[in-house]
Amino acid sequence: MTYLLNDPTKFADELAEGFVAVHRDKIYAVDGGVIRLHKAKPGQVVLMIGGGSGHYPAFGGFVGQGLAHGAAMGNVFASPSAQQICNVAQVVDAGGGILFCYGNYAGDVLNFNQAQQRLRAMGIDVRSVVVTDDIASASLAEKHKRRGIAGTLPVFKAAAVAADAGKSLDEVFRIATEANERVRTLGVAFSGCTLPGASEPLFEVASGKMEIGMGIHGEPGISRMDAPSADGLAEILVNRLLDETPSMIEDRRGARIGVILNGLGAVKYEELFVVYRKIDQLLSGHGLTIVEPVVDELITSFDMAGISLTLFWMSDELEKTWLAAADTPAFHRGNVVHSNENKADSLQLGNQHRLKTGSAISQAAATVVLAVLEAAYAAIDVKQEELGRLDAIAGDGDHGIGMQRGLAAAVAAAKEALDAKAGAGTLLTVSGDAWSNRAGGTSGALWGVILRNIGSALGDEAKPDVTAIADGITAALRGVTDLGKAQLGDKTLVDVLHPLSVSMDSSASRNLSIAAAWNAAADVADAAAQATENLLPKIGRARPHAEKSIGTPDPGAVSMALIVRSIAIALKKHCAPFEN
Ligand code: ADP
Ligand code: MG
Repeated sequence: MTYLLNDPTKFADELAEGFVAVHRDKIYAVDGGVIRLHKAKPGQVVLMIGGGSGHYPAFGGFVGQGLAHGAAMGNVFASPSAQQICNVAQVVDAGGGILFCYGNYAGDVLNFNQAQQRLRAMGIDVRSVVVTDDIASASLAEKHKRRGIAGTLPVFKAAAVAADAGKSLDEVFRIATEANERVRTLGVAFSGCTLPGASEPLFEVASGKMEIGMGIHGEPGISRMDAPSADGLAEILVNRLLDETPSMIEDRRGARIGVILNGLGAVKYEELFVVYRKIDQLLSGHGLTIVEPVVDELITSFDMAGISLTLFWMSDELEKTWLAAADTPAFHRGNVVHSNENKADSLQLGNQHRLKTGSAISQAAATVVLAVLEAAYAAIDVKQEELGRLDAIAGDGDHGIGMQRGLAAAVAAAKEALDAKAGAGTLLTVSGDAWSNRAGGTSGALWGVILRNIGSALGDEAKPDVTAIADGITAALRGVTDLGKAQLGDKTLVDVLHPLSVSMDSSASRNLSIAAAWNAAADVADAAAQATENLLPKIGRARPHAEKSIGTPDPGAVSMALIVRSIAIALKKHCAPFEN
């Protein structure tokens, strides 16, 4: 467990602040993460990585010469938001395109994909390589579903070296993809971890037992056994990994491999060396040549007791990238020559534009939208704990806090936008950005999409009407399903958003007033949220524990119904400027 902290909700921000203060000679803090202090060459490809906090040195610790150009750093165990990723990406962009490289987790995939879409829309070329090295998390046939753990390092290194050598984005993508095809990791755990400020461990392993293949956030492993000796564990890890020698390795004898023995948090270096001693003997005994092994903490999980072993089966090309010099806060190899000439000086976000001023009628509507957001915040605030409990049944328990954090940020952004005389559309757009930026997680990203789509439909000129709102909700539904891929019946907020959209369309065709339309929508949303009780989750974090959730409605569906109801009530009071 963590002994030293102030306010648990500020833990991730405060650790990032201290981390940057230690490494001012190598990195620079930007909104959403960190970037290399030394700038990339104009026109070159840059490597951008990222993930949740709580896994140090992953991911900020791998930013620096010879490794990543930038990293987005999320909250504790939560992916960075698309906005954070975009912010960091825009600053590191050197004009030659960006490779996103990160471990395969649903929240990270969702947010990086969304950031990729947005950056492409700005004319920045972005491609992604999602690392899938954890052999315990899916079969080889479904390698694309595997999680990413310590094998991320050789993939990052391959991409970074190729990018700094001036290769094209296609080439950097190809090399990183090949590195991912050739890396395999297996981890074991003897205990779970306790998040900062929490009173209970997030997950547990029975005493004296070892879980093989447990994920770094407590994702279930493939088997459980009595904890072996150090040598016994080395044998288990080596044998299982050799069983999955990549098919392109024709002859294992004489093959050259990079080896990483990673401590997950509570295992001492001395213990790692005892285990490594046997790993070295076993691999050499199989005729393999070990090239520059790494025994260190590279991707951790607070006080989780466990280790992972990674084998990186190198080609000549990849061996050069593995051996190349690097100098980052947490990873050093060889000698990196720094030149002071390319030190970052003026790091400003290129697109910090002023908000567009709305028409008088749209500014009036924006006042109502702010009131609506405040009402939604109040409705979620009182139900925060209950939403957390619903999410804890099959998910990770953060839905209440996430929604609260997101809505608080949305309200604050809306107030600023109103002061800047924004119309209703812009106000909703910046509120959506603020929401997804602060909330993180899956629902944060999706609510950002919802607000931005409704904002686009309302615009900053016209008086909002039910048709524009209905169009906005239809677009929001499309945006949410494009991004999250959930279908009706998957037990997500889509099960409320879809009938809500149908209801709004019907109200528009019947020429109902805005207040009447939201009133009808609130009844539909309540019933739809309640009906998710009997569904089985097929997507998102709740999926692995699907059956546990039968009889409990989906938290995201419930919070959406609460918000729709609060809008209906607020509009009864405030909708005068909208109606004729
Ligand atoms: P996380 O799942 O990242 O912890 P939250 O707990 O804040 O995020 O939100 C969980 C809710 O998000 C779920 O109850 C569900 O309604 C919604 N959700 C999760 N995945 C998806 C998806 N792919 N599409 C639509 N909604 C989703
Ligand atoms: Mg959750």
